[in-house]
Amino acid sequence: MNKEQVLQEVHELEGLCYDIAQTIWDAPEVGGSEQKSADVFRALLEKEGFRIVNEEKLPHAFYAEYGEGKPVVAVLGEYDALPGLSQTVSAEPNPIQDGGAGHACGHNLIGAGSATAAIAIKRYLEKSKIQGTVRFYGCPEEELLSGKVKMAYYGMFDGADIALSWHPMSANMTMDRSYLASASARFYFKGTTSHAGFAPERGRSALDAVELMNVGVNYLREHVIDHTRMHYSTDSGGYAPNIVPGHASSWYFVRAPRMDSVQDTLRRIKLVAEGAAMMTETSVRTKLDSGCYEMKENNRFSDLTFRNLLLAPPPEYTEEEMAFAKALQATQPEEMRIKDEKTYETDQPLFTGIAPRELWEKSVINASSDSGDVSYIMPMNLFTTTCWPIGVAPHTWQATASTGSSIGKKGAHYAAKVLALCAYDLFNEPETLQAIQKEFAERNEVAYKTMYEA
Ligand SMILES: [Zn+2]
Repeated sequence: MNKEQVLQEVHELEGLCYDIAQTIWDAPEVGGSEQKSADVFRALLEKEGFRIVNEEKLPHAFYAEYGEGKPVVAVLGEYDALPGLSQTVSAEPNPIQDGGAGHACGHNLIGAGSATAAIAIKRYLEKSKIQGTVRFYGCPEEELLSGKVKMAYYGMFDGADIALSWHPMSANMTMDRSYLASASARFYFKGTTSHAGFAPERGRSALDAVELMNVGVNYLREHVIDHTRMHYSTDSGGYAPNIVPGHASSWYFVRAPRMDSVQDTLRRIKLVAEGAAMMTETSVRTKLDSGCYEMKENNRFSDLTFRNLLLAPPPEYTEEEMAFAKALQATQPEEMRIKDEKTYETDQPLFTGIAPRELWEKSVINASSDSGDVSYIMPMNLFTTTCWPIGVAPHTWQATASTGSSIGKKGAHYAAKVLALCAYDLFNEPETLQAIQKEFAERNEVAYKTMYEA
């Protein structure tokens, strides 16, 4: 079988790809509750002849495996939705369910595109009778930045050699490096309550401690490396102004280009919290929720992805799709639209080419993904395909509308083609896999430990 025939296999699965994308979009489940979505993929892949491997302690995660021996090529899929972003396929805000969840990051498409690719790769392995294994990974809780970290903790990635992955976006492109390392931590302050009018001198305010901690962290901002992000919220600060608050807490996200910087910034934030506790004669307890690594770059892997992005024919759009995309764009004022510079030198609302690689190879996205942890366990690369209009941002109702439309589905099917072609090369060109693994080994200067163990 040659690459043309592999493309044909994916082409024949177009209807299936669209159906899965629709099924998952129709029943959005937020991170930690993806039971139905995970079951859709398990049933589909089991029927196709894959062995399903579950992890008891993580019920919505699994992998489905086909084939024998090395290399073991992993294709990562996701399926969690976002709260509050329910939306019909229309160009005006119109939730299917008020306050309901919606696929505003297109993870319905990631699952559908990756599963379609895994099935095509399986059929290829079956027909060609060559040695090798394909695994589809059902990864929950991406939006909580925890699913793949937990999967790593439970050893679910053991035995896999290389991971292919993709994400919906507004352009077709490969990224050498992307996403910031991140950690989520909570600070619980405990003080002493008292009557705020009658005996304020007896009280020790936990809310004062939270406020002073935040002031301290805001002074820290000047003295951290570029691209560091520190954001916080508070969900508790006492009950009424006439009671000195005995309990208050602050919730922090810290992001930085590398995990060691995140850990160091977190160490300094803890010192600030302890200082705030000392100033207010309260006590503080810190709880680390989760954390994920930055994406480790692998240029040889990007070479592979980029050449297959060029090889697979990108989607063409109908006039109706272009009109819908334009209408979605028009819902955002010009100044609010995401500007992605030179890549988007086009009058069309949908990006139809392949973004020149040099524009993106040094880019860092100021967001985080738990895929970063996978990139520390094995070589991993991420590409994106056009699934919503230029200027539309993920995590918006406009994105939910697009990921439920034929635009999103076309993006998923195109991604499936690229994934399958990359897998074909990995099975047929041992030297390509070796070059990627060599670069991975050279850059792997830190021994990987999940944030739960670090
Ligand atoms: Zn996402």
